Order: sequence, then C-alpha cells, then structure tokens
Amino acid sequence: MLIKQVYIENNSVKQDVRIENGQFTAIEAQIEPYENEEVIDADGKLLLPPFIDSHVHLDATLTAGDPEWNESGTLFDGIRIWSERKKTLTKQDVKERALATLKKQASHGIQFVRSHVDTTDPNFTALEALLEVRDEVKDFMTLQLVAFPQEGILSFPRGKELLEQAVKDGVDVIGGIPHFEFNRDYGVESLRYLVGLAEKYDKLVDVHCDEIDDPQSRNLEVLATLAYETGLGDRITASHTTAMGSYNDAYTYKLMRLLKLSDINMVSNPLVNIHLGGRFDTYPKRRGLTRIQDLTANGINVSFGEDDIKDPWYPMGDGNMLDPVHMGIHAEQMMGYSQIMNSYEFVTNKAAKTLHVADQYGIEVGKAANCLIFNAANFYDELNERKELLYSIHNGKIIVETKPAVTKLNL
Ligand SMILES: [Zn+2]
Repeated sequence: MLIKQVYIENNSVKQDVRIENGQFTAIEAQIEPYENEEVIDADGKLLLPPFIDSHVHLDATLTAGDPEWNESGTLFDGIRIWSERKKTLTKQDVKERALATLKKQASHGIQFVRSHVDTTDPNFTALEALLEVRDEVKDFMTLQLVAFPQEGILSFPRGKELLEQAVKDGVDVIGGIPHFEFNRDYGVESLRYLVGLAEKYDKLVDVHCDEIDDPQSRNLEVLATLAYETGLGDRITASHTTAMGSYNDAYTYKLMRLLKLSDINMVSNPLVNIHLGGRFDTYPKRRGLTRIQDLTANGINVSFGEDDIKDPWYPMGDGNMLDPVHMGIHAEQMMGYSQIMNSYEFVTNKAAKTLHVADQYGIEVGKAANCLIFNAANFYDELNERKELLYSIHNGKIIVETKPAVTKLNL
C-alpha cells in the first residue's frame, strides 16, 4: 500500500509512505507505485500515529442511567449508584459493554487502550470478562488490563490476596488506590506491597494516586521514591494526582525534583476530573486537575485518558481522544498555537511511553504500520474542526474508513 503526500505529525513538507507486510517500509518525498499497488491519495492530509487511551474503566462503561442517573454529579453518588449496578454484573454484561466501547474507540482512531478493572470482587466477574475481551479484540486493539483494587488493598478484606490472584490470572499492570485506604500508613504499605508484586511478577504499575482535592494527600512522593529506589522508573505510572492542583508551590518545587529523578509517568483525565473536582469548594472553585503544564515543562511524561465513558461517575463520553485533549488544554491554559499543535502528543507518543509500547509504535521505517489519516492538514485544524478520520490503519490493514458527508448550504 502506498499513501501519497501526507503531512506526518504536522510536518510542513508532504511525504509518501509505503506499507508492506504490515510494516512501514519507506517514507520519502516521492515514491512511485508498484504495478497494482493499492494507492491512497491523501494529498495535503494529516497522518498521525494511532490514538491511545491511557486510562479507562471498561467494566463500568455504558451503564449511565442504570439503575438511576447520577443527578448530583458527585463522586459519592457515583459510588452509591455503582454499588447497586455491581450487584447485577454478569460476565456477558461486562463483555458486551466493553466490546461496544472498544469498537466505538476504534472508530475514532484508538488502537491501544489501558483499562483498569475492579479486583475487589472476590468472584472476579469483570476480570474474567475483560481477559476474554483482551483476546477477542487483539486484531484491532492492544488492550492492557490493570488490576485495580477499587476498595483498597489494606482496607478491604483479603485485599492483598485478591490483588496477587488477579496478577496470577494474567493482568498486565498492577494498580492501587492509596488515598482511599483508611489511613496514611495503609496507603504507604499498599504502595510498597504492590510495587513488590510488580518486581516479583515483572509487571508494570499504574496507581490511582491522590485523586482528591486534599493538599495533604501525598502518596505520589512515596510512589516516586519507590520508582526511583527500585529502579522500576518509567515502568511505574501515577494516574490522576489531582491533589497536586492543590499543593503549595514550595512543596511542588521539591516534589518535581523527585519526579524527574524517578522517571515516573503521569496520566491525567481532564474530562472526568474537571467534572468531579472542586466539589467541596464554593467559590473560588478549584479545577481539580494535576499540574499538566508544570509537569510537561519539567520534562515529565504526561498522557491523557478518558477514564469514564457513560457511567455513574461521568455521563458523557464517546470514545474519542480529541475530547480529553480539547478539555485538557482549556482547563490547563495550554492554548499557545504551538501547544495546541503539539497537544496530540498527550494521546499518541507520550501515551505510548506510558504503556511501554513505544518500540512498536511511531511513523518510522521498520515499525508496525499503525497510523491515522485525517481530513485536515494539521492538528490545529483537526482539533478545531473535528474533520473526518479518513482511515485508521492497523498492522497495514485498513480497519476504519470514512467517506466525508457533503453539506449543502442554501444561503
Ligand atoms: Zn480511573
């Protein structure tokens, strides 16, 4: 297959891209097609590496309104409604909703997803379902599963045992929720325990860390210290870290040094955290997000996730990574022209580093032919105008194709 005259990642010069046997085999200014080679004429269109959702919960997805809508919009009503819905969970129910969501995500150009799955269910209903789904979608989606102890590791009966069992059952990543544990000591011990498991079983780590507006919630410093001292470094990710939006500047300055030393990855979920954050504030009201801009300026890797797609915590979401990018750059005031142009990095290359798929990812000769072609010349236009995803190509195969609709203006 030959793709003609695309702007690769906002480059100002057009190039041709050849794909053979599922890999990129040539990227040059002009390539002549072979006889009978399939040619995509993409003159002046934007070519990007595929979108990655760094953080979502596929076990709860598409349950909004069942058994009731979260009319108050608070985290706590979300937990209450989910505990009701959880009682009716079956493997088939989880599989159907997860598959529908993954297909929706694929239709918007996502080819890699990291999903957390609640493992504080002694029956592991959702875990068993998602392990099967991971296998069923592998031809169009790389799905990583995180064992997520939603109700704690030390603060939930048999929490340690359940987490280790989930790891043995085949998750890719080990999670935690230290700010939700009964006390600070439990939070610290939970982090030591889960990092120890990651060393024992050679797994990645992704912790829901300090997802609270409390400036005293300081588990991130513990996790970063563990990343540094164990040498696991960028195999460890801290998700949410919204408390950092409330930390004072002197403490944050000190923390940044440790974060840089540790090489830890960070994931922000701008849609959900702007919705759930600052709920105990009247006015002025905090945004409830981590310091995306400061972290990025300090060279710390930050990627974005959707977190929730139509569930008790967040009623919106369409599986489209342009939504968290749009919200993230607004809420964090990263709206310089070059910041907007480069914001696709939060859901592509930076996310590939978080998921540890960077070696098979990127528009380079010799790498797997995974890419997106948009009906726009650059990411500024794409983000503003939401132009069609013309093609999503996965391992050299077209998995999504869109014919632009024609709008007639009778003015
Ligand atoms: Zn989450």
